[in-house]
Amino acid sequence: MTIGTESIIAVVGAGTMGAGIALVAAQAGHSVRVIDTQEAALERGRQGIARSLASLVKRGTVDEAAAAAIADRIGWSTDVASAAPAALAVEAVVERMDVKTGLFRALAEHVAPDAILASNTSSLSIEAMAEGVPGPERFAGLHFFNPVPAMKLVELIASSRTAPGVIDTLEALMRSWKKLPVRVRDVPGFIVNRVARPYYGEGFAALGEGIDPALIDHALESAGGFRMGPLVLADLIGHDINYTVACQVFEGYAGKTRFRTHASQKAIYDSGQFGRKSGKGVYDYAADLPAPPFVAPGAVPGSIEAGPDAGEIEPLIALAEAAGGTVARSADIEPGALRIDGKLLAMGDGRRLADRADVDILLDAARDLAATPTLIVTTRDAEALALAAGFAKLVGKQLLALPDRPGQVVLRTLAQLANSGFDALADDIADAAGVDTAMRFGANHPQGPLDWARGFGTARLGSVLSNIAAATGDAIYAPSPAIGMSEPA
Ligand code: NAD
Repeated sequence: MTIGTESIIAVVGAGTMGAGIALVAAQAGHSVRVIDTQEAALERGRQGIARSLASLVKRGTVDEAAAAAIADRIGWSTDVASAAPAALAVEAVVERMDVKTGLFRALAEHVAPDAILASNTSSLSIEAMAEGVPGPERFAGLHFFNPVPAMKLVELIASSRTAPGVIDTLEALMRSWKKLPVRVRDVPGFIVNRVARPYYGEGFAALGEGIDPALIDHALESAGGFRMGPLVLADLIGHDINYTVACQVFEGYAGKTRFRTHASQKAIYDSGQFGRKSGKGVYDYAADLPAPPFVAPGAVPGSIEAGPDAGEIEPLIALAEAAGGTVARSADIEPGALRIDGKLLAMGDGRRLADRADVDILLDAARDLAATPTLIVTTRDAEALALAAGFAKLVGKQLLALPDRPGQVVLRTLAQLANSGFDALADDIADAAGVDTAMRFGANHPQGPLDWARGFGTARLGSVLSNIAAATGDAIYAPSPAIGMSEPA
């Protein structure tokens, strides 16, 4: 079965998600029926869509006539019977099992017996919901991301009763809506809300240790390449929503250690200061956001030495030489290290600096050492910090200094995200491409966690995680059983 543009789409719930789904369906050419129990919600949805279309016209994405045609294709009603001619009815109502199943029973009285019924639930079990849906063979999960027009990912979830063709039909339909559909097993958090947990978890763990939030966020934005740091992003999402999802995933996996929430996240939730919408969360939005605590630039070092092959640190050597510095090659220096005025700088490997007697400056990971505007270091003493500041100045980067914590900030976050991705493979939630696509297009991560692991090296990832687990004594970092079983396909 295919659902073409001539087919009518019903969207139930005119809130944040429903209005977005209706707009995307209408843009794809469908007539859309939006249904909500609240007149006021319909009006807000209509106005929201009008604003979105006006901004598309302003940006030149559509012309006025096309925008008017899209708006005209959307009908608004409080009567569920108006869904009758729909080939697909998607619900985006309140996140309650009884409300959703009650709605599907009402929809089933009006739509054709072969019309597909879909739920946009983020956290309820599709298998359990199917129990309450008349004709569960035409029912599936269709999970969009907020804001729907901007986020390309859609997670497709079958229950054990879903007829095989239904997911195929939804997949083709989502492609025709210019979305990226990914098939995922019916598990708590599906892919994105599960695999992304450590991004926030690691931010809150570092915050709980007293590390400056602006440092944490800037480290992940600059060296980590993420669009928003974890704490400023959690402030944007809202700690009520983000912490609730974290707890649901933890409970859904029966308390699996990997999904344990951090005390500093609970403390913010308990404070009732939910983030940007409350005016305060991790940050206070009454004032400008604080600048990261950059270390003042130091005097350019006198001597820099590297091994014959400096490995992943070569881009820094190229920058140093391009800036007029001289880098001597010395056979006694390992790849991934540099000697600056006699002090050894080395890439972090998950161990504390205190456990690496030969090293004076530990350098945190960066997705791209050449491009990152910031270097993040842990140093043995003030002298080593001054040398790091001088080296950073030479290579044209700013410097952030961390206390001596296992895995530092960027490496620990990237490694734990990859660990979470491998866990998803171990639990057979999706395939590797599905996990990576989901994280890029559902969470806006710059790279899939398994793709990052492939470049970093999976054996090395396992060793970094083991080092962090040993140094912290925390089983949350225990390497996933899927690491090292095989390269992610
Ligand atoms: P919302 O509160 O903005 O909108 C829900 C709408 O549903 C309201 O307008 C309400 O009046 C209406 N409604 C409630 N019961 C109804 C019923 N029986 N019949 C018709 N309309 C009814 O909620 P939202 O943020 O759009 O979330 C909707 C669903 O999408 C939830 O299941 C949520 O978990 C899921 N979801 C939300 C997000 C997000 O970021 N907001 C992302 C993905 C999925």
